[in-house]
Amino acid sequence: MASAEFSIIQHYFQHLSPQREDVLLGIGDDCALLQAPEGYVIAVSTDTLVSGVHFFPDVDPYTLGYKSLAVNLSDLAAMGATPAWFSLAITMPEVDTDWLHPFSQGLSDLAAKHNIALVGGDTTSGPLSITIQVQGFVEQQQALKRNSAKVGDNIYVTGTLGDAGAALELKLKGVTEPNSDTAFLTQRLERPAPRVEIGQQLAGSANAAIDISDGLTADLSHILQLSNVGAMIEVESLPLSRELLAITTQQHAEQLALFSGDDYELCFTVSEQHEGRIKVLLDERCTKVGVITQQPGLRYHRNGQPTDITGKGYEHFSN
Ligand code: ADP
Ligand code: MG
Repeated sequence: MASAEFSIIQHYFQHLSPQREDVLLGIGDDCALLQAPEGYVIAVSTDTLVSGVHFFPDVDPYTLGYKSLAVNLSDLAAMGATPAWFSLAITMPEVDTDWLHPFSQGLSDLAAKHNIALVGGDTTSGPLSITIQVQGFVEQQQALKRNSAKVGDNIYVTGTLGDAGAALELKLKGVTEPNSDTAFLTQRLERPAPRVEIGQQLAGSANAAIDISDGLTADLSHILQLSNVGAMIEVESLPLSRELLAITTQQHAEQLALFSGDDYELCFTVSEQHEGRIKVLLDERCTKVGVITQQPGLRYHRNGQPTDITGKGYEHFSN
């Protein structure tokens, strides 16, 4: 490794994350050595963010650091796993300390919040791209998989939907004049709050879960396909924020909730007999949006009547 690379790692990454006792050997050797707890399996996930594809090239580096880890933590949340470790592969065009400092601060702030330790990575030169791999623990029988939704399960989502999609639209339209509504929506796009605690509480009680990165319709469809079931969504139940409804129509807000991505909320299914175990969580943090059906496919109802809604989730490589 070049000495410049070594000093970047030492300076910006070596000490950014919380120390954990289960990191037997951290950054600096050929591999990290990590101790998994007895009785748990390790949940692993990787996500890459590429400049110009997943973020605007001029994005604020603090936001980029924060969001790169957030989207990965969201995958652990969707599995019901407890975050433990992560690695960071960063490719950048030049060593820009004014950029690296806030980038590592964004990562570090979220890492501290979730007690996840940076244990290694790679640093290379090229067009800006960030790859993070996260690892966490979950009891094998309790992991929230996509293939286990059952007919009759209720479908829930956390938080509100469509906010990040609205912020992206505003940005693309060049709306820069901030007010408290647009500031809230931008915050939802740039600093998604991975639902890690909720995911952990759902482990062992929900049947299936996924995090909503490409829109409720697209992501719920993954559960339906892998579980060999269908679903009915009650459109009037979709949780829409006051801020979203302040800047657009009900109809467009519903479209965004169903078809726009980047919310990083959880969508999960629970059988009625298990709802009692997580009643407070369901009442206070989640919204029931539909049910799992035997009839395959995804259908929408409004006030109990079938309704047609079309739209499109974000698909990579679709054009
Ligand atoms: P190797 O040549 O064995 O791949 P490197 O020279 O790439 O090792 O990295 C040296 C050490 O620094 C390794 O422990 C690696 O995990 C760590 N490392 C490299 N880049 C990063 C980074 N961006 N963040 C955290 N750790 C890093
Ligand atoms: Mg390397």
